[in-house]
Amino acid sequence: MNHRNTKQRAAIRQVFAEYDRPLSASEVLELAQRDVPGMGAATVYRALGSLLEEGLLATVILPGQAPRYEAAGKAHHHHFHCRVCGRVFELEGCLSGLQSLVPSGFRVEGHDIVLSGLCPGCGV
Ligand SMILES: [Zn+2]
Ligand SMILES: [Zn+2]
Repeated sequence: MNHRNTKQRAAIRQVFAEYDRPLSASEVLELAQRDVPGMGAATVYRALGSLLEEGLLATVILPGQAPRYEAAGKAHHHHFHCRVCGRVFELEGCLSGLQSLVPSGFRVEGHDIVLSGLCPGCGV
């Protein structure tokens, strides 16, 4: 890996450390360009791909949305999607009693919860 790539990767990892919320590729591009002006979209996609492959990032899938990425290895958590600015936020904690939502004979083994609405910046 050459010096140029190393610098760009470092800028991308810095973005995730700084913002600590799931980011789309275009958000990563915009934020990383503040540190490395002129960084291209292809570079960001390549770096995201290799960070995913190395297990340093995880993909966050939201229905009907472009994938977001977050640091891998976080504790169980859920997400909030702002319908106005499109930003995704990490929520702490979880719900109990989900087993009671399924009919008898079903066993819940996992779940994915995405809340949506307005973030503080977009609410009036
Ligand atoms: Zn918002
Ligand atoms: Zn949960």
